[in-house]
Amino acid sequence: MTPRLSLRGITKRYPGIVANDGVTLDIAPGEVLAILGENGAGKSTLMKIIYGAARPDEGEISFDGKPLEVSSPAEARELGIAMVHQHFALFDTLTVAENVALGLSGSLTPAQISEQIKALGEKYGLPIDPSSIVMELSMGERQRVEILRALMTHPKLLILDEPTSVLTPQAVRTLFKTLHQLSAEGVSILFISHKLDEIRELANRCVVLRSGRVVASVDPKAETEEELARMMIGDDPPTVREASGEAGEVVFEMKHVTIPGTTRVCGIEDVTLSVRAGEIVGIAGISGNGQARFMATASGECATPSDSVRLFGKPVGGLDTHARRLSGLRYVPEQRLGHAAVPELSLTANTILTGDVLVRSGFILRERAKEFANLVIERFHVKTPNAEKAAGSLSGGNLQKFIMGREILNRPRVLLVHQPTWGVDVGAAAVIRNSLIRLRDDGAAIIVVSEEIDELFEVSDRIAVMYRGALSPAVPKKTLTIEEVGRWMAGLWPNSPFARKHSAEAD
Ligand code: ATP
Repeated sequence: MTPRLSLRGITKRYPGIVANDGVTLDIAPGEVLAILGENGAGKSTLMKIIYGAARPDEGEISFDGKPLEVSSPAEARELGIAMVHQHFALFDTLTVAENVALGLSGSLTPAQISEQIKALGEKYGLPIDPSSIVMELSMGERQRVEILRALMTHPKLLILDEPTSVLTPQAVRTLFKTLHQLSAEGVSILFISHKLDEIRELANRCVVLRSGRVVASVDPKAETEEELARMMIGDDPPTVREASGEAGEVVFEMKHVTIPGTTRVCGIEDVTLSVRAGEIVGIAGISGNGQARFMATASGECATPSDSVRLFGKPVGGLDTHARRLSGLRYVPEQRLGHAAVPELSLTANTILTGDVLVRSGFILRERAKEFANLVIERFHVKTPNAEKAAGSLSGGNLQKFIMGREILNRPRVLLVHQPTWGVDVGAAAVIRNSLIRLRDDGAAIIVVSEEIDELFEVSDRIAVMYRGALSPAVPKKTLTIEEVGRWMAGLWPNSPFARKHSAEAD
């Protein structure tokens, strides 16, 4: 059978780095091929080459037996190649329908596009309001838009670059059903994920990349997760250490905070939480249930009455992020590019953005900033030729490691982290989780918002759940099971307003 896609000796160099080094692989019609590799192994670069967003320096590509020479994604889409990007390629200020329209070359009217978005959303369990402004959508919803936009072009080859990192477990199930259905219809699927269980469940075959080269091609179902991890990093991934030591004084408090939502953004309602020095509180919940507003309120991006948020006993509700940072609170937002880092600026310059000690009397201490950036690179194993590279040139996982490292090495006394290991490979995820636990053991109070329940059980001392803007009590993780957290994620914690409503309806 003629392969749907055939790569022969694909090589791509960037200054100081060979991102792809003679990659050869085939994918058959209807095949689901997973690409596995450490952060920076060259997965996204390879996908961008297939999609016409980057040009190889060497090698040949054929599509359905014919040489493939595309110089833009628009040409690739014309031929039946669609891609769901790791970093969303959406315009924040446009609506869902307008974003989708930009990726279509046909002559559909805006009304027809909206109709089709609704119809596809229904068919594949990805509901979205076509008139929503992207800026107001949660990460999970934006991901939905990306997937729908790809499906609108009726692709023969669908490339998905870490599509599940911001999806809820239930949405992942739906997506997998969709992908199985598409594969049965003959659509070939290239799937990048760091989640080994997903690869084992979904893919017929898995190609492992290391430093830009293909090092293995296996049936993932015939391998254990440990074996796949070893193939990927060439070693056993580090284990996550146990936390030790008791929690101290309450250092962070939020009391009865209510911020109304808009029609599209979930607000928070009567949220109360206190966190002690030397403990990690994990907040579980499906994205879009108020986590963004909660983090904005806790970090200072959103002001509240002065006494409603306290740091080390002092009211800070009216203080902005900079003032809170000077008091010892740091924040790693969910969105890496644009919010946590400026893509066009170098890594050194990006350390200055939140590095208050790197600026004295209005002067930037450039040498110290450089040293600090190099320290982050070394400690967090960030793969980059040097600290002068633009943040946007790093692979997704490497940028995440850099941002986490930048905040952790500033030794915060209170740290807020939204999705700490999003897009990070298994080895690096263990490094990040260990560094959070070390920071906790050194006496920091840490709040981790994550959709990964396993991760929360691994790092947290206490766990709370957000649902429709309400926050459950934060209880010791030892008193909870994963199943219970799952129920709480539907609002059903003891004495929750939703549980009362639920039982009243049952009566
Ligand atoms: P991740 O799992 O973190 O997403 P990846 O396997 O997708 O990683 P790539 O994004 O393909 O990795 O990056 C491979 C290497 O190429 C990295 O070292 C990265 O810094 C480098 N690179 C990628 N794009 C560029 C660019 N536009 N300019 C310079 N270097 C780049």
